[in-house]
Parts: sequence; C-alpha cells; structure tokens
Amino acid sequence: MTLFHYSMIGIAAAAVSVAVCLFRGEPPAGTVETSEITGVKASTKQTGTSAGVTFSKAGYDITRLSPQRIDELAKKLTPEEADIILARGTERAFCGNLLDNKKDGVYLCRLCELPLFGSDAKFNSGTGWPSFFKPYAPGHVATVVDRSHGMIRDEIVCARCTAHLGHVFEDGPKPTGLRFCLNSASLTFVEKGQELPDSAKPIPTQTAYFAGGCFWGVEDRFQQLPGVIDVVSGYMGGRTENPTYRDICYKDTGHAETVKILFDPARITYRQLLERFFRFHDPTTLNRQGPDVGDQYRSAIFTADDAQAQTAASFISEQQQTDRFKSRKIVTQVKSVQEAGKFYEAEEYHQDYHLKNGGHCALPEE
Ligand SMILES: [Zn+2]
Repeated sequence: MTLFHYSMIGIAAAAVSVAVCLFRGEPPAGTVETSEITGVKASTKQTGTSAGVTFSKAGYDITRLSPQRIDELAKKLTPEEADIILARGTERAFCGNLLDNKKDGVYLCRLCELPLFGSDAKFNSGTGWPSFFKPYAPGHVATVVDRSHGMIRDEIVCARCTAHLGHVFEDGPKPTGLRFCLNSASLTFVEKGQELPDSAKPIPTQTAYFAGGCFWGVEDRFQQLPGVIDVVSGYMGGRTENPTYRDICYKDTGHAETVKILFDPARITYRQLLERFFRFHDPTTLNRQGPDVGDQYRSAIFTADDAQAQTAASFISEQQQTDRFKSRKIVTQVKSVQEAGKFYEAEEYHQDYHLKNGGHCALPEE
C-alpha cells in the first residue's frame, strides 16, 4: 500500500474526478482539476490516502464523497443554497448572513459539514463577502480553475464534497497573502462551545514517538503505512530548548532525531508500529545507525501513555528472546513523554525530505 500525497505528482497535476452532474455550466463534462491549498500555496504533504480513505493532516476524513452521497446531502439545501453550492452561483455582495459575524467558532461546509475556515482567520476585506486568509486545515479546501465570465480565477471548493465555496485571490493579508472570498450560503457557522456534528469531527487518533537514526528515512518509512495519518520529523529527549539541526549536530543537546506519528488506532495498532520500527532500524547499536554516529541517532521510544509503555516493554522483551536478537542486546531507550520532554518540530526542509528530494537513507533490512 502506498501512501498517496498530492505533492508527489505536483499540485497542478492532482486531477480528481468529481460529480460532474452537480455542476451547472463550466466546467463541462469530464473531470475537474483540483489542487490542494495550504495557508500559503505550499507543496508539502497535506493529505494521506490509505485503504481508499483520505485523511487530512489534521486527522479529518476527507475522502471524496460519491455522487450518490452528494445528491443525498443536497436534499437539505434551499433552492438559493443549491444555486450557489451546486450550480456555482455567487450571492450578492453585502447580502450574506455571515459577512459581519465576529463570533469565535468554526465555519463548516454547508453541504458535508467539513470544517473549512476558523474565525481566527476571518478578516474584513471590504468586498462584501466573508473573507479568510487561510483554510481551517491543510487539504480541506481545493481549487478549480474557473474560466467563466471571461476571467481566469481560482474557484474554491470543499475538498470532500466539491461544494462551491467562492474564489481565492492573492491580495490577502499576512501571513499568507491570500484572500478566500466566500459565499455565506456555502457555510454553516458553529460557535465555540457548541457541539459539532459528527461529520465535523476528526477521527480519533493517537500519537507515537520513535527515534531510530536519520529521521528522513524513518519518517519516510512510517509515512507509507496504512493507518498512519501524518509523520513529522523533530527532536526530543534532550535538554536544549528549541534546538536547531545545527545544535543537534554540533552541540551536546541530548536530543534524538525523532519522528512524531499521528495514527488511526482502528487501522494500525501501536504494536504494529513497533514491529515496523524494529524492522527498519537496528535497535542493538548504541548511539549509532549504520554510518550515522552520535547520541542523536540513538534508538528510542517515547511513550505517550501507560498502555504504550507496557506494550513497548513487553514487545522489547519478546524480541530479545527471538533468534534475531538472541546474541545481540537491544539497547532501545524507552521513556515516557513526561520524562523525555517536549517534541520540537525540525526545520521545514527536513519535513518530507524524501518526498521533496527523492533518494533513501541507508536503512537496514527490507
Ligand atoms: Zn463539503
């Protein structure tokens, strides 16, 4: 199973079939080109797909809904809403009910209830339409090239149900410089403190932390496992606050190159993560993985709770009895996250290093 990233094939090339019957006018029959957006038009990973399910980095199920499901959901829309959401219409300026809404909360897709924008990114653009400078989470909003009305614009749609939302322009405020111009009719506002519908909630996830040498390779391997939603490279287990890669290499920080894994426990267990971890690193070489030497390359497991601590301890003691390790002592450090301290995310250029640069670290086995 290969984890799919839009960035692997290039943002512009992420062609996805959508329910064409729902669009009136342009684009015509065929497929609609969509591309994912982050706060700034970045190209790093935003979604992961495994076993036919696509998750956003924030842990939401953003699997594209079927035309049948969209038709079902569309039954609840008023004719005016349908004209905007399904037929790509635009409400008149200064007429939408959410234009002047200043309450704290989240703006959901009116059709499928995926969180699309947060009140913290709303600003007064003076245009007469609700405006935001970034989506709620990377991967939740997609763009479609809109050639209607003699213009070329970036239409924005819900990434899960393709509901028409509005357009995005590059004249927004800092930090993104983007202006997401919305129709109020495409959104449902839920005020902070109110219960969100189930379809607006992320899936229940857990977090795991592993250090096993160069994090480029470890991140890459874990990314490819079905049920793993996101992997971030960073530093953990040391003394220095806010360490840089340079600190890790040249100073005695005590940190290990560590990956933080967000996973869906319904589809991959913590034990299965441990099994994979022990297959692609050598837990018997103290402060070393292959050619990489130093305590930043030590083998370590930082456990998020008691259940993980027990699973890790029993897994290691089982492994020690196997033929693979009977003459080699496992030196993997096991510490709770309370003992290990904060996880510091590594510099951006370390994230998705293999996706961006190709190649592979010399990891043992497999
Ligand atoms: Zn939607």
